[in-house]
Amino acid sequence: GAKAAGGGCHQWYEEHGADRARQRLTMAADLRRATEEGELSLVYQGEVDLVTGRVEGVEALMRWTSRTRGPVSPAEFIPVAEETGLIGELGAWALDRALGEVTAHNRVTGAGLRAWVNVSPRQFAASKDRADLVTLVVDLLAAYDAPASWLGIEVTESALADDARAVPMLRALRELGVGVAIDDFGTGYSSLSRLHDYPVTLLKIDQSFVRELGGHGAAGPRAAGVVEAVVALGRSLGADVIAEGVEDEQRYRALRSLGCDLAQGYLFGRPGAFADAVRPVEVPGPVLPGMVGARLPGPR
Ligand code: C2E
Ligand code: MG
Ligand code: MG
Ligand code: MG
Repeated sequence: GAKAAGGGCHQWYEEHGADRARQRLTMAADLRRATEEGELSLVYQGEVDLVTGRVEGVEALMRWTSRTRGPVSPAEFIPVAEETGLIGELGAWALDRALGEVTAHNRVTGAGLRAWVNVSPRQFAASKDRADLVTLVVDLLAAYDAPASWLGIEVTESALADDARAVPMLRALRELGVGVAIDDFGTGYSSLSRLHDYPVTLLKIDQSFVRELGGHGAAGPRAAGVVEAVVALGRSLGADVIAEGVEDEQRYRALRSLGCDLAQGYLFGRPGAFADAVRPVEVPGPVLPGMVGARLPGPR
């Protein structure tokens, strides 16, 4: 973004000027074709219980491999989809696809996994040619004859803080039994009083804190303090706490000793095929006696 770039005028114009606008328009046109020509796909990453190593759920992440551009990062195409309104179509497709895949898996294995799907704030706004998110989810659950416990919605903390309309819709989804996660938690400046209004079942600690956790100097202890505080907050909200971006054993151990419930990251595997994401992982290191008992019971 402009804030992060912090460059001079030239850089500003590159990001915000006519060239940039033109690039976004051509990308939007390509993206529109991508949905029709099947260039979009979903990859999955497991959400691993820090103590047992069991995969409790999967996150669906969208991928676009363009015929002309090659692979395009969601960090690039999701904002374009949001600005052009295409996100409604893309988001509905992702919900359908992820629920279909987890339903097929759960029917065969009896695992009862939850598939988490990222949702943009724009998807909370209904339009004349699109049902609102709650109606869409209700229809999809009926179409797959799937319990609501097989689906979860991830919304970033900043989206929630910006958009008051999201809260009642998430509450309705929560009441159905759909999971509600606050993504990138710790970066969005929610006030503590607002937090108690959010119908949250999972807090996702942002990767920036997880990265700092292993750091030397002052950053490590500071990040540990943040994790501890979020874990305590999760307990008080009746929500599980998951750490994103866990890449090594050192951080895994740190998170486990800080009382975090779940973890997600390259340590267990890159986002990929559904079947790979749900494979149980070997928990690093011994589970110390009393560790399981020491975990406070939380809803799952
Ligand atoms: P997110 O939901 O916070 O997803 C986490 C990102 O971290 C993903 O990037 C994932 O591939 C990456 N990641 C996972 N483990 C590790 C790790 O150990 N280390 C590091 N460095 N990264 C890890 P990805 O797939 O590029 O997605 C980026 C963002 O794009 C997502 O952030 C989400 O906000 C958005 N996004 C992805 N798919 C969708 C979608 O279907 N709909 C919407 N609205 N947004 C999506
Ligand atoms: Mg997410
Ligand atoms: Mg995140
Ligand atoms: Mg993120």
